Amino acid sequence: MYITNIIAYKDNYIWILYDENKKCLIIDPGEYHSVCNLCIKKKLTPIAILLTHHHYDHVNGVQKLKDIFQIPVYGPEETLTNGTTNIVREGDKLFLLNQLFHVFDLPGHTSGHIGFYVTPWFFSGDTLFSAGCGKLFEGSAREMHSSIKKINTLPPKTLICSGHEYTLQNLKFALSILPDNTALSLYKQQVEMLICHQKPIVPSMLYLERQINVFLNPYNFDFKGKLKSLLLEEEWYIFKTLREMKNNF
Ligand SMILES: [Zn+2]
Repeated sequence: MYITNIIAYKDNYIWILYDENKKCLIIDPGEYHSVCNLCIKKKLTPIAILLTHHHYDHVNGVQKLKDIFQIPVYGPEETLTNGTTNIVREGDKLFLLNQLFHVFDLPGHTSGHIGFYVTPWFFSGDTLFSAGCGKLFEGSAREMHSSIKKINTLPPKTLICSGHEYTLQNLKFALSILPDNTALSLYKQQVEMLICHQKPIVPSMLYLERQINVFLNPYNFDFKGKLKSLLLEEEWYIFKTLREMKNNF
């Protein structure tokens, strides 16, 4: 299996997973033009679309791709009006490209948000980003926190394929509250280098996220000053506070 992505709009990732027979899956097509161009260039034949949630920048290309390729669309119930043909939820398993895909419920960013796991990749949509996480539009902080903890139960070598490229901004926020953190500084330098050389930043490995993502494992970080007392709180509450701080960053 091979993976590639297309940047849509300004910072959206459309993920394309394909096998040696050139059959492919399209994950969260926010638009269709660039997907068609990539399929022509790489001689890929789409066999299905997977959707994580209903936001327009993840589903806008669905109808056109469905019309062109006549393929099924697997997504949460909230994407029914966006062209989903097969509703999936936690516990469902899909057998596509000769691989087993596990569906995870990930409420928080939207109420019906889901994720897909197929070893070694996890398609996290707008739930987990590299060094950050999605905003809470429909769900509560408790829900989003437990969705993120669920992702954290995956094997350390899992590759997180997120819905947006926000890594550098997320690292700037993290360093604003943890200015002495070496892992964060080193990763920021690495990301800046990758951007400079136009190299891909994602997927990022869960093992790395555990060290640089304050939303994934807040207790792992040595907060100082005003934030130090936050570590006495329950983890979901720390998560909520950090998320609110990031909103205002
Ligand atoms: Zn979204």
